[in-house]
Formats: sequence, C-alpha cells, structure tokens
Amino acid sequence: MSDQTLNSWEARADANSFYGFTDLPTIKERGTTVLTHGKGAYVYDVHGREFLDANSGLWNMVAGFDHPGLIAAAKAQYDRFPGYHAFFGRMSDQTVMLSEKLVEVSPFARGKVFYTNSGSEANDTMVKMLWFLGGAEGKPQRRKILTRTNGYHGVTAVSASMTGKPYNSVFGLPLDGFIHLSCPHYWRFGKDGETETQFTARMAAELEETILREGADTIAGFFAEPVMGAGGVIPPSAGYFQAVQPILKKYGIPLIADEVITGFGRTGATWGCQTYDFIPDAIISSKNLTAGFFPMGAVILGPELTDRLQAAADAIEEFPHGFTASGHPVGCAIALKAIDVVMNEGLAENVRTLTPLFEEGLKRLSEKKNIGEWRGKGLMGALEAVADKDTKRPFDGSLSVSERIANACTDQGLICRPLGQAVVLCPPFIFTPSDMDKMFDRLEKALDGVFAEVA
Ligand code: PMP
Repeated sequence: MSDQTLNSWEARADANSFYGFTDLPTIKERGTTVLTHGKGAYVYDVHGREFLDANSGLWNMVAGFDHPGLIAAAKAQYDRFPGYHAFFGRMSDQTVMLSEKLVEVSPFARGKVFYTNSGSEANDTMVKMLWFLGGAEGKPQRRKILTRTNGYHGVTAVSASMTGKPYNSVFGLPLDGFIHLSCPHYWRFGKDGETETQFTARMAAELEETILREGADTIAGFFAEPVMGAGGVIPPSAGYFQAVQPILKKYGIPLIADEVITGFGRTGATWGCQTYDFIPDAIISSKNLTAGFFPMGAVILGPELTDRLQAAADAIEEFPHGFTASGHPVGCAIALKAIDVVMNEGLAENVRTLTPLFEEGLKRLSEKKNIGEWRGKGLMGALEAVADKDTKRPFDGSLSVSERIANACTDQGLICRPLGQAVVLCPPFIFTPSDMDKMFDRLEKALDGVFAEVA
C-alpha cells in the first residue's frame, strides 16, 4: 500500500520508487527531481524550476519534449489502431511501412527489420539471431560474443554481459562466452611514445590474437558502438573500423554496429557507421528511432545476414522469438514521423550546423587546468576532469567529481550527465546557438565552482 500522506513529491518518489542507475547519496542529500513537462529543449519540475536538458533526456529526445508533429502522429495512430502485435503472420500497416523506410534509409542495398521495445532487447535479439544461425548452419559452438571494455549495450542478462563495465559484476555477469577487448581510447590508453596509428594497430592485433586464441569458429559476432556513448562518449581511435573490419571479414565474423545513440543523425550523418566510413553486417537501433516518444528498438539486418537468417528460419518454418509489443503500431507511426522530422525538417542539418559551435565550446572549456581532454563527434561530446593535466591523473574517486559537477549544473538550471570522471553533453537536435551559449555558460560556472573546491 502506498503512503499517500507523504506531502512532498520528493518523499513520495523515495517511498515507492526503486531507483536504477542513480547515485543514491545524491538523492539522499538533494532529493529526486520530479518533472512535470517539457518545452523544446527544456524540462520543468513540480516546483516550476526550469532546466535546459543538455542530454536530450537519455540521449533520445532529439526533437525536444513537445514536438507537435510527433504528438499528432501518436494521437492519430491511437485513434486509428492503438495496439497490435506482429506474431502469427499478422502485423500493422504502420509496421510494414516502417520496415520499408528503415531499409531505405539504412546503408544496406536491401535488408529486413525485427522490432523490440528497447536497445537492450535489440542487442539480445541480435545475439539470439547469431546463435540461431550457428545452430542452423551446423556450427552450434559458434556462440562467443566480442565487445569492448567501456562499450555499453544494455541491461538484460545478455546485453549486460556485452556491456564492458565493471558494475555488472554485482550481478555475477558477464555470462560465459562474452569477451571484452580493449577500449580504443587513445588519449587514455595509448602507451608512452605510441602514435595513434600504432595504437589502432595494437587494437586490431589484439582482436586477431583473440580470434585465434578462442578459435574463429567459436565466435558468433563482434558488436561495437561507432562512438561509445555511456562509456563516456569515446570516439574510436583514427582508422579503428578500417583496421578491425578486414580481420572480422577474414574470419567470417559479423560486425554489428550498435547505433542506439549514434543512429539518425547524432554524429552528423544518418548513421555513425557512415561517419566512420564502414558498412556493418547489421545495425541495432533504438532511442532516436522514435525521438524518445515511444519505447522501441530494432535490428536492421544487412543483405547477407538477411539471407542466412531467412534460410535458417525457413528450414524450421519459424523464428521462435518476439515481444508482445514488437512492431507496435503506435511506435511505428511515431518512428515514421520521427525519421521524417529528423531527416526532412532540418534537424539533421541543424546537427551539422551546430557542431562547430559545440566543438568550439568544448575546446574552450578544455583549456581549464582540470580538464584533461575534450572529445566528441557531431552533437555528442564530453569533458574529462583530471587532477593533473600533464600526467592525466584522475581525481580521487571519493571526491565524486563528475557527480559534483552535474549537481552544480542542476543548481544552474542545466542537466548534464556524469560518466566516470567525465561530464557528457548530448543536446537535442532542436538546440539553437543561444541554447548552446547558455549550456556552456552554466557548465563553466559549475566547473569553476567544483574545481575551486576540489583542486
Ligand atoms: N546500446 C547502446 C549503445 C545504448 O546507449 C543503450 C542505452 N543507453 C542501449 C544499447 C540499451 O538501450 P535500452 O536502455 O533502451 O535498453
């Protein structure tokens, strides 16, 4: 029974909601921010406070929080057909149209789409597809999955096993057979005297050594975000995908691009793989797919995987997998509108227009004595806090520097995200130059305040 007598929103949130991915000491000290609505790039709390959301919600609300076209598309579809599944040979007309659209805007000449409710489930689904393929092609031992340290692929048992973050050890994860290669972050992991080219070659050599050690025919696939997102916005080292893809091809291992954050314009091109000039074997999409207006994920298969999976399914007359809400008609109608809004109403263009301004702001703040590196691509970026700029020494973890910066930003009316010792910015595509100025002004005040306390 919930306690309706609690009189503050903060206390009510605390009483009955179990928080995920939340710094609990911060909540104890500051209380939950309970939000009521949004307008453009801004959100508002129960006390009427306004926040500029420099993270697009959770990287996903790229068209802002009140886009009339998206709301109208949702309302119209709720009026027409508010829910249906995609099992037993039935699916909504919206689902058919969205699959056509996704294949059309994908980098693939042809392909097929499978729907989920989230990015985690899309990664899980892709892994199950690869396992299914192994069984069907007489290679049931082909089950191992390669990902990278600091890669983020979700929270279900399989996608959390793919995620290369230490916190999953509290769940006894990763599961067996999930192998994490090194993170291709040259600034942090490059050795003394090693050039970026040599670093990339080392990453590629590690991949090949791992394949040979494990046995190529035990490996089902390699998953990578074109730019690591929740690992701290980490673009790959120069030439990374050009170095690893030929090795994967040589051993017949599919390359899956997890484009949950980078898809639909975030890095300047429609897909992150286009920004980094490679064509994967499949794409994992979510978040921006519906501009955050509906929970939805998708696996977009390229031609070769399409043919192989179709043959495998034909052989047993079924692909025994799917979610109740896979291909939900309202989600599909919203996604169709979201793709149109991003690609044809100037949002993708705005990302490209704003990128130089964004980079300039990041660069300016990176000149501070306690910022070691700025990094980013398109409209996703990060500033890495360091105790010592020359040695790149991080702050003592007990200082919770990035949490403090994010809290100081909240006090300034700015939402940004602490990740490790970095502060991450991922503004919505509707940002204006004046929003950009406001974001950097508020962030600078927060940084100066926190560094004065801890440095
Ligand atoms: N892959 C990537 C690259 C992500 O950033 C995320 C979510 N941040 C996921 C997968 C998981 O998506 P979801 O939270 O929708 O399960």
